[in-house]
Amino acid sequence: MIVVLKQTAKKEDIERLTSQIEKQGLKTSIVIGTDQTIIGLIGDTTIIDPKTIEVDEAVDHVMRVSEPYKLANRVFHPEDTIINVGGVKIGGGYLGLIAGPCSVESKEQIIEVAKSVKASGANILRGGAFKPRTSPYSFQGMGETALDLLLAAKAETGLPICTELMDAEYIPLFNEKVDLVQIGTRNMQNYSLLKKVGQEIKKPILLKRGLASTYEEWIMAAEYIMANGNPNVILCERGIRTYETYTRNTLDIQAIPVIKKLTHLPIIIDPSHAGGKWWLVSPMAKASIAAGCDGLMIEVHNDPEKALSDGPQSLRPDKYASLMQDIKKIATIFGKKS
Ligand code: PEP
Ligand code: MN
Repeated sequence: MIVVLKQTAKKEDIERLTSQIEKQGLKTSIVIGTDQTIIGLIGDTTIIDPKTIEVDEAVDHVMRVSEPYKLANRVFHPEDTIINVGGVKIGGGYLGLIAGPCSVESKEQIIEVAKSVKASGANILRGGAFKPRTSPYSFQGMGETALDLLLAAKAETGLPICTELMDAEYIPLFNEKVDLVQIGTRNMQNYSLLKKVGQEIKKPILLKRGLASTYEEWIMAAEYIMANGNPNVILCERGIRTYETYTRNTLDIQAIPVIKKLTHLPIIIDPSHAGGKWWLVSPMAKASIAAGCDGLMIEVHNDPEKALSDGPQSLRPDKYASLMQDIKKIATIFGKKS
């Protein structure tokens, strides 16, 4: 971080600022130019909020020369992180192939879908129990009962289970029953939840990107979880809101190389919530694997017309099966293990 002082700054201003910065455990290096003086901060500047320096009347502006996140940063951890989800590896060449219905609706439904996606090559089962719905009148999920139905499907198929946590009060239950804890788009910036998830959840976390979040905001959300004690974070791009209304959201495929450049965490793609249309899922999933993502989260329903949530974007099991055939071929070309 570099602090550029105003031309009017005096010797005592420089002394005040350097002592303020050094009290926070950093070293300083002062460059006195003909017109302007610059203070360079040396050390871990992630703990510094540039605004607290910028308010000083002797300061013109503050510039970051490194990212504000440390634990997620690839600079400090050059190799890819591989995360173990109930025995399934994700990252570093291993693909997490997550599939299942938007919502768990009944025992028969979740077991039927679980068996079919497993037969097609999925290695993790998804299914919403607590649903973040835009309308309070829409189906809100089966809640705790759904966790037990997911466990029944796990017992039948051996697939680890992934479902969304919305409230901290359910953390003990999720620690006991869930293999991969999803933090949804709408909660990506729920910082009190992120802190508790970091401190109290022992399982890996799937952190979805906020509807209109920048890469830095999304990585900082991962940093919250990591800084609070849980290093096992997988990022999930699920489409962002743009001016386009034809599709539900716009899939940001660029997120794959960008996240891989900036962080060492795995990134998976959810093409279902991105496009919001079942026929967009397959092309976007294939493009994402070709672009180097570490896995896919895809909504599959045995009867999409009757689905209680997200039917229009859900693949039928036969369509998922044929997509997975293509995914396996693409994965082989790019040296990924599926
Ligand atoms: C979901 O996965 O069912 C979901 C609600 O996702 P998102 O948070 O991406 O909307
Ligand atoms: Mn959904």
